[in-house]
Amino acid sequence: MKIAFIGLGNMGGGMAANLVKAGHEVQAFDLSPDALAKAAENGCTTFTAVPDAVAGVDAVVTMLPNGGIVKAVYTADVIGKAPAGALFLDCSTIDLATAREVAELAVAAGYEMVDAPVSGGIAAANGGTLTFMVGGDDAAFEKAKAVLDPMAKAVIHAGEIGAGQVAKMCNNMLLAVHMIGTCEALALAEKAGLDPQKFYEISSKSTGYCWSLNDYTPAPGVGAASPADNDYAGGFASALMLKDLRLAMAGAGTAGAAVPLGEHATKIYEQFVEAGNGGKDFGAIFTTL
Ligand code: NAD
Repeated sequence: MKIAFIGLGNMGGGMAANLVKAGHEVQAFDLSPDALAKAAENGCTTFTAVPDAVAGVDAVVTMLPNGGIVKAVYTADVIGKAPAGALFLDCSTIDLATAREVAELAVAAGYEMVDAPVSGGIAAANGGTLTFMVGGDDAAFEKAKAVLDPMAKAVIHAGEIGAGQVAKMCNNMLLAVHMIGTCEALALAEKAGLDPQKFYEISSKSTGYCWSLNDYTPAPGVGAASPADNDYAGGFASALMLKDLRLAMAGAGTAGAAVPLGEHATKIYEQFVEAGNGGKDFGAIFTTL
């Protein structure tokens, strides 16, 4: 297939390279000349304008920072410029309202579109082991799956358009809450006189088990290897977790859902990021306790 890829940053760069490896012809665009140069090294054909990159393609994949940018790129330079009937896949994490609005505009203009946000970080993007949660109708999902498979460990049909973003915001709100809870429990164990490693051994096999404790233990030198063992460098930045929590809070507002722990987690990450810790892995909340 001929696929346009727009947004070749930390995530998109590796994803586009995996499409090339799978034998697709990838037409790449990014505002950053460095990102474009790297994409060229990885076998993409590069363009300096979006309408040129989407000319003649079967599908357009976007991996961009936020909903405002996604909407601007699609409305100004993709809708009406890509060939009629092309499939659009937005893999960015964005707000639900924008995801639905852009898809409606695309469908009204004769295209198919899915929202397909991902779980997994830069290593999974490079390794082709992302989990995609896809919103769109059955026909669009089947076509999207063929595009996403080379970048994926799993491609899951979440439901109608927007359902992928709903899954993503709910998953990451849950992740934030259990990460903070894990940090609190580890700190409490230690302060109350229990070796945190012993606590890990017990709770990871008891009803307290969860991904944050079992697989990504946020206390240095305890339990599973994680960025905590490297002064919280790398991993999933607290600023990105805050972005996802804010999207979840906006989504909860629109849906009229009560999310008291989600709200509290958002405040905790807000304070942490405002104190200058946005680049630290999200498990670094442990250091505040
Ligand atoms: P990034 O900032 O590294 O990359 C974004 C890229 O988009 C940059 O190269 C930037 O130059 C480009 N860009 C910005 N505006 C553009 C425009 N108008 N036209 C073309 N290119 C433009 O961000 P990232 O970490 O790759 O994240 C991308 C998306 O993936 C975000 O929505 C993020 O929330 C989501 N995500 C990130 C991670 C992660 O661990 N980094 C994990 C899951 C999901």
